[in-house]
Amino acid sequence: MYINFEKYKSITNSYHCKLFLQKSIFGLYIKITSMMDNYTIKYTLSWESINISKTDLIEEVIKLMCEKLIKSKDLYKIGRCDYCGESNRILRTSPFMADMGTMMCEHC
Ligand SMILES: [Zn+2]
Repeated sequence: MYINFEKYKSITNSYHCKLFLQKSIFGLYIKITSMMDNYTIKYTLSWESINISKTDLIEEVIKLMCEKLIKSKDLYKIGRCDYCGESNRILRTSPFMADMGTMMCEHC
């Protein structure tokens, strides 16, 4: 199956994201990385679903993934946890009133 990589790259560029596509026996492996903070999401789209879709499913999925990435970045940030001190964690703002403005990782 022919895949126009350049066409799909132009979609993620407008979201300030980098696109990585790789063909495998299972399907098309899609990886999208934010250029701002390297936040990454991955998905494998099966060949079967690509073939039965009447629209360009690859394009649809890439757009959805970009939107999901942008949205989740608003809620979560990557960085150092103010509780355990570990860096490179997925963080959200602390749920405790007394600690307003501090960041907490998923493990704490
Ligand atoms: Zn922590």
